[in-house]
Amino acid sequence: MFGADAKLRLLRGEDVDVDAVADLARHGVRLVGSGTTGVVCYPTCGDARRIAAEHGGGSRTWPPRTPPGYRPCARCRPA
Ligand SMILES: [Zn+2]
Repeated sequence: MFGADAKLRLLRGEDVDVDAVADLARHGVRLVGSGTTGVVCYPTCGDARRIAAEHGGGSRTWPPRTPPGYRPCARCRPA
């Protein structure tokens, strides 16, 4: 509605690492998951930002092509 620049300002205002999210998107990653909690999020979710790199993983699809036991985040609700 307000354009891409406004969206970027909003995301940065929410402490989203826009460059990291853009890098994931360039690699086709649309969802990230925690190997410790089994929660899958959109990369812009506040909960996703707490996933440590060594415990995280990405996927293009839901359900992720990773071991079973993953579940969608209740906060960002990936479809
Ligand atoms: Zn989430």
